Amino acid sequence: MTIYNFSAGPAVLPREILLQAQAELLDWHGSGMSVMEMSHRGKEFTGIHAQAEADLRELMGIPANYKVLFLQGGAHLQFSMIPLNLLRGKASADYVNTGEWSKKAIGEAHKFGGVNVVASNADRNCTYVPAFDAWQCDPDAAYLHYTTNETIGGVEFSWVPVIGDVPLVADMSSNILSRPYDVSKFGLIYAGAQKNIGPAGLVLVIVRDDLLGQAQAGTPTMLDYKIHADAGSMYNTPPTYGIYIAGLVFQWLKKNGGIAAMERANIAKAELLYAAIDASGGFYHCPVALSDRSRMNVPFTLKNSGTPKDAALDGEFLRQADARGLLQLKGHRSVGGMRASIYNAMPLEGVQALVDFMNEFAGKHG
Ligand SMILES: *Cc1c(COP(=O)(O)O)cnc(C)c1O
Repeated sequence: MTIYNFSAGPAVLPREILLQAQAELLDWHGSGMSVMEMSHRGKEFTGIHAQAEADLRELMGIPANYKVLFLQGGAHLQFSMIPLNLLRGKASADYVNTGEWSKKAIGEAHKFGGVNVVASNADRNCTYVPAFDAWQCDPDAAYLHYTTNETIGGVEFSWVPVIGDVPLVADMSSNILSRPYDVSKFGLIYAGAQKNIGPAGLVLVIVRDDLLGQAQAGTPTMLDYKIHADAGSMYNTPPTYGIYIAGLVFQWLKKNGGIAAMERANIAKAELLYAAIDASGGFYHCPVALSDRSRMNVPFTLKNSGTPKDAALDGEFLRQADARGLLQLKGHRSVGGMRASIYNAMPLEGVQALVDFMNEFAGKHG
């Protein structure tokens, strides 16, 4: 049976990469060593690291005045590192609230300075992107932070805010590399690896170099971007195996047509799944506004959502999906229902298998 893994993260990786990692596990390129056993300062690993960075720069078109950092601590640590490094003596930063992940970023930023929530979708249960013309941006803000894709709510920006000179900071943890972004529009981009890049334990930071070197007094050394930038992400031992796998993912993306091709595939997968939900006559329901539906994370409920009858049906849906090899479809505990995460590494066949199952299930239980 073919297994399709719809986990929100850690998430599916391309099978051919896992096979390559397996083949190279004990002896990387004739070195006689596993990548896990190599000195991070040896020529083998520094080569792996440099190649991964070069491939990422090529894929995303990262300009030369941006540093690429391979760090640890997940996206969560970035919630603190961003204010520590980017407030630069200013009174406050702007944040957009679009759901669970922006709320966490906002909560942490409060510890370091003023937070101005310029827009929020909380009035409609975090199911849409607030229209830009109503954002109350502060021209003196240290930066503006937003979450390009809310992994839990399934709300994704299809546009990039244009905010003048205030640096734009984006949490791209769950949609980086899934669609093209003009990096030059951002001051800082960050993404935990475990959704669209590689294994957990690695977080990617892309930061414009004029924003470095202004961390607030007392910032721990390990939380200062400048320290990591100056040391080429080798200030301490980096997450070497994660960087290696991320590098293989970047090569896989390049081989498969880059981000433009990935976006076409992601559009096709998302359209297929949303069409099945919308054509189910109300058996399945996605609460997110049509224009703001995520291509990566598709939340949906079954009919009679919230009733005891529905809870039983949810369980039945998950059991039968499991039996078909359609794994990890249970929705986030804060939202309930189902969530299908269909990142870059999910093939169209996986989404088709899910849609076939959903149609059959609705036919029996509708
Ligand atoms: C998963 C996720 C995070 C948290 O990542 P950790 O690596 O667990 O810290 C933050 N933001 C978004 C958008 C996410 O999807």
